[in-house]
Amino acid sequence: MNIKKIEFQFKEEMAKIKGQMEKLKMGDPFQDPDHVIDNASVDTDVREQEAHQLIEVELSTLSKRLNDIERAISRINSKKYGICARCSRDIPEKRLELLPEAAYCVDCEDKLTS
Ligand SMILES: [Zn+2]
Repeated sequence: MNIKKIEFQFKEEMAKIKGQMEKLKMGDPFQDPDHVIDNASVDTDVREQEAHQLIEVELSTLSKRLNDIERAISRINSKKYGICARCSRDIPEKRLELLPEAAYCVDCEDKLTS
């Protein structure tokens, strides 16, 4: 397992996610400084509300992923990367290939999410 490469990929991924979040925020109608004085019809309001909510959901998904990656990087720094944060067993490499930011082995993940 090439930790340096994984760390590099994490950093690239983080930059990508941050870029996506910026773009999403710019697309948010509520982000518009003119919004408060906007006298749009109720229809437009509902549409903007929905667009805003969709963006919020996407943003929270992205920021969760960002958090996971940040935590994975700090595990790399403290030499705990690839070790389950719950049972301290090695996380199988196959799993890390699929989910590089995984903090738990499959068993623990199942127990934590069910
Ligand atoms: Zn475990």
